Amino acid sequence: MQDVLNTINGRQVPPAADRWIENIEPATGLKLCRVPDSDAVDVQRAYESAVDAFPGWSGLDGAARGRHLHRLADAVEAELEQLARLESMDNGKPIGLSRSVDIPRAVENLRFFADAAATDRTEVFQTGDRARNLVHRDPIGVVGLISPWNLPLYLFTWKVAPALAAGNTVVAKPSELTPVTAARLGELATKSGLPPGVLNIVHGGGANAGEAIVRHEGIPAISFTGGTATGARISSQAGPLFKKLSLELGGKNPNILFDDADLESALATSLRSSFANQGQICLCGSRILVHDSIHDRVVQAIADGARGLRIGDPLDEHTQQGSLVSADHRDKVHACVERARADGGQVLCGGRFATGLPARCEGGFFYEPTVITGLGMEAEANREEIFGPVVTITSFETEEQAVAMANATNYGLSATIWTSSDDRANRIADQIDAGTVWINCWLLRDLRVPFGGVKHSGVGREGGEEAMHFFTEAKTVCTAQGTTT
Ligand code: NDP
Repeated sequence: MQDVLNTINGRQVPPAADRWIENIEPATGLKLCRVPDSDAVDVQRAYESAVDAFPGWSGLDGAARGRHLHRLADAVEAELEQLARLESMDNGKPIGLSRSVDIPRAVENLRFFADAAATDRTEVFQTGDRARNLVHRDPIGVVGLISPWNLPLYLFTWKVAPALAAGNTVVAKPSELTPVTAARLGELATKSGLPPGVLNIVHGGGANAGEAIVRHEGIPAISFTGGTATGARISSQAGPLFKKLSLELGGKNPNILFDDADLESALATSLRSSFANQGQICLCGSRILVHDSIHDRVVQAIADGARGLRIGDPLDEHTQQGSLVSADHRDKVHACVERARADGGQVLCGGRFATGLPARCEGGFFYEPTVITGLGMEAEANREEIFGPVVTITSFETEEQAVAMANATNYGLSATIWTSSDDRANRIADQIDAGTVWINCWLLRDLRVPFGGVKHSGVGREGGEEAMHFFTEAKTVCTAQGTTT
């Protein structure tokens, strides 16, 4: 594979200092390509090109910006198969997932905000007969976007699309671990006629390129998705500069099963919500809380299901579990499992590196889907995000206990409740600290609804109008009417 390049001013360029990072294919452990190890000089060049492009781009009417985004969506859609393959090679996720979720959702993000761009957002507030207030929403300027490796193009476009739709120009950094599809997006943007400088993509590590974006005094807004510790660091740097900040961070989401649930669908979805994308989704239900009376049945079904998942080459159509994103991450996940064992947890299945893979994948970073029982809510495995194919199962006796256990972490991203009682579902949903509560479903997303977390899972909301509000500044123009004093 060719080296990944930065996209600056509509051109593919190497990093100014000619420093590079090796990009490893996680399923093989072998070098895939090189990635720019960009620094503040590259970010400055990207920034200057974004500044130059801003008057033209923000001066277009929303419908025209929307047409540009639709053309970019067309270009991504036309390459869906190639992009899905690149995503799987770069991240280790099964090709079936890239093809059915990651790349289609990237197209959907672009189209959703392309349509949103065309909507006039001016609001009118009439103050009796004394005044009329017009609230305009103006683009902010050059905005900084930083995204993680778990859903690379999906989350990258989830930021790029609203930022551009609102009339901003962009300096964006994907994760250095999974830069390939974002780099291709940069090429497609140029090819599809997006004006040069509107979308600049700078690759590199968080400490170099990432911090250079966060600290840049000309970039007044940062939208970040990633780990909670990184979010705290970004917040401490951007806060004193009075930047607008959107932080989408980690999760330790409870998945609560009551004894009146439709167990067949609860179990099928719980298997998916535990292990989809190798458990590397911020919304994974990594803590199953189950009513005492169905505990043994649920434990057996989830453990059997986990053992039955097909681990294999991400490029194989039949693979259900690919590799973790890196050797470091696999080792981190394994260390978490070892600490859970030391805390008294019973590892019912998994808990080790996967073996028996095809020859091409012998050096890859595969980990067996792991089910742990016997831990209290105070255990680290029930409090801290592992972000791998590891789920804990714990029983409760009463609704009150279920709610207390669900809320017993610093995170508050999402929760799932399985019950056939509407009353119970709504009662519990009201009490759970989370930005999203799913009842009898999981990961059912409507792009119009606010998305984000509470507590240490983040600050602010993405999606729909929330994103358009984040990427604009409201300006109120109050005009007096009649006699004034
Ligand atoms: P990280 O926080 O390590 O990295 C996220 C991004 O931030 C990467 O592009 C990274 O660059 C960059 N970065 C790292 N350090 C800095 C810094 N000091 N300044 C600026 N940028 C920096 O997260 P991961 O990539 O490991 O992603 C996994 C995490 O993301 C999990 O905690 C997961 O829960 C969370 N997440 C949250 C979601 C949500 O919507 N709430 C959705 C998806 C994931 P590089 O990788 O190049 O070092």
